[in-house]
Amino acid sequence: LHAALQRSRRLESLGQLSGGIAHDFNNLLAVILNYSAFVAEDISADGVPAAGTDRAARIVADLAEIRDAAVRAGRLTRQLLTFARQDPADTTVLDVGDVVRGLQELLRRTLGEHVLLAVDLAAALPTVEADHGQIEQILVNLAVNARDAMPDGGTVTITTRLVQHDGDPPGAADALEPGAYVAIIVADTGQGMPDEVLERALEPFFTTKPKGQGTGLGLATVYGIASRSGGRVAIDSTPGHGTRVTVLLPASAEAATPVPGPVPESAGGVG
Ligand code: ADP
Repeated sequence: LHAALQRSRRLESLGQLSGGIAHDFNNLLAVILNYSAFVAEDISADGVPAAGTDRAARIVADLAEIRDAAVRAGRLTRQLLTFARQDPADTTVLDVGDVVRGLQELLRRTLGEHVLLAVDLAAALPTVEADHGQIEQILVNLAVNARDAMPDGGTVTITTRLVQHDGDPPGAADALEPGAYVAIIVADTGQGMPDEVLERALEPFFTTKPKGQGTGLGLATVYGIASRSGGRVAIDSTPGHGTRVTVLLPASAEAATPVPGPVPESAGGVG
């Protein structure tokens, strides 16, 4: 298995943020402006055209481009706002297993009928101090990536484990405090990532997805949430075989605050 521990990219990432925003928005705005100009030219050439003419068809097509660009711009803004949210707004003591169970149905729908969802939750896992919505976001972002990596179907396995971290070698990038961590592991049987993608996967705005489908903020958001809570993200990927993303969150000694949602089972189930 080819493994690569992702180095800290947070500072670099934040630095790239402003440039990335300007770049993507300028491209989208250029599309909006150019096509608006084409429409205006068409209309002013000889008045508003009659329906059914070539010119009318062209105007309709131009307007569709404008709409598309606006939709993409909106999607980017929403992702950006989530990504830029720096404060763990609503931190509680929670059981990650409860969050997974509560989200299972939504994840299944997100993955679609060609992808099997397997869930393997550790019993008696310690709690973590985190924002419930942000843990959900980690799961959704990783599930969407797994789905996109498996166009012909496959399996996504969500696992939770208790991990004892003994400390990092001196000078290690992205060093973690020694101690107990809760691991959320999302593994897929998809196409995997070549080295040059793996190296850049956590960077904001880095995407290999077709225009309009990827914003490149999914993993950057996961990374931001994990590092702000004192954890980290590691990605193992084998091209042609699959990807495993491990999110470590510091374990807490507190008892979980009950969360609304389905009654937890005694031990996690599969499927
Ligand atoms: P986006 O999903 O918008 O592209 P991400 O930050 O979530 O942004 O992912 C960045 C890139 O990393 C993706 O475009 C893809 O190339 C790669 N990637 C992420 N997750 C996976 C995965 N599970 N399998 C294969 N490649 C992945």
